[in-house]
Amino acid sequence: NKRKLIAGNWKMNGSLAANDALLKGILAGLADAVCDVAVAVPAPYLAQVQAAALGSLVAVAAQDVSQHEAGAYTGEVSAAMLKDFGVRYALVGHSERRQYHGETDVVVAEKAQRALAAGITPIVCVGETLQEREAGQTEVVVKRQLAAVIHLNGHCISEVVVAYEPVWAIGTGRTASPEQAQAVHAVLRAQLSAASEHADRIRLLYGGSMNAANAAQLLSQPDIDGGLVGGASLKAPDFLQIIAAAR
Ligand code: 13P
Repeated sequence: NKRKLIAGNWKMNGSLAANDALLKGILAGLADAVCDVAVAVPAPYLAQVQAAALGSLVAVAAQDVSQHEAGAYTGEVSAAMLKDFGVRYALVGHSERRQYHGETDVVVAEKAQRALAAGITPIVCVGETLQEREAGQTEVVVKRQLAAVIHLNGHCISEVVVAYEPVWAIGTGRTASPEQAQAVHAVLRAQLSAASEHADRIRLLYGGSMNAANAAQLLSQPDIDGGLVGGASLKAPDFLQIIAAAR
């Protein structure tokens, strides 16, 4: 039975002082964590969080990684640089990157490949918009998004984490029901099973308005192996309650 993973995505929030207080709060309550825990922090704070989390159960994650190896790519951060700062996971293809930064399925797959090559576990995010769901396109969309990653990273697909984040549930307070989430997770699991004999050990996270009140029900679904938590990961007590629900 694989350990669940609860990953906080801080997005573009925080400061040296706020991060310090948040991490202290998380670490103080983590003594008996029974799942894996990570926080995805803005790039300038990787060193701070690496130092503060050293020797603890909290792994450091990046929110993005360049699809290029090195060179003339102003503003980009490479997988090797992240590795230098002890980064264990990197989000790739978060819907905010797809929406606001034009990331295509191919770019997302290339980012996953760069992360894997550097020894960083990519957390590949997929998910449909409200319009796509209402048009009955949910399965087609998430399968297309995942297929690109399987296609490029086929032989090491069992090393990735996949996060299903329905766009309409992100930051809206409108969580997918456990049944809705499980249905999509089952589709993703089947697709991974066709590509890898180790698909059952790939962790499938749910993200989108996960909070202390709804986490336990979501996390008890057979194919939900963890959570990718935005807003609720910015408050230590809430994040700790979600972690406690992951057993
Ligand atoms: P919220 O938990 O704030 O809805 O954000 C979800 C998310 O996008 C995590 O990556």
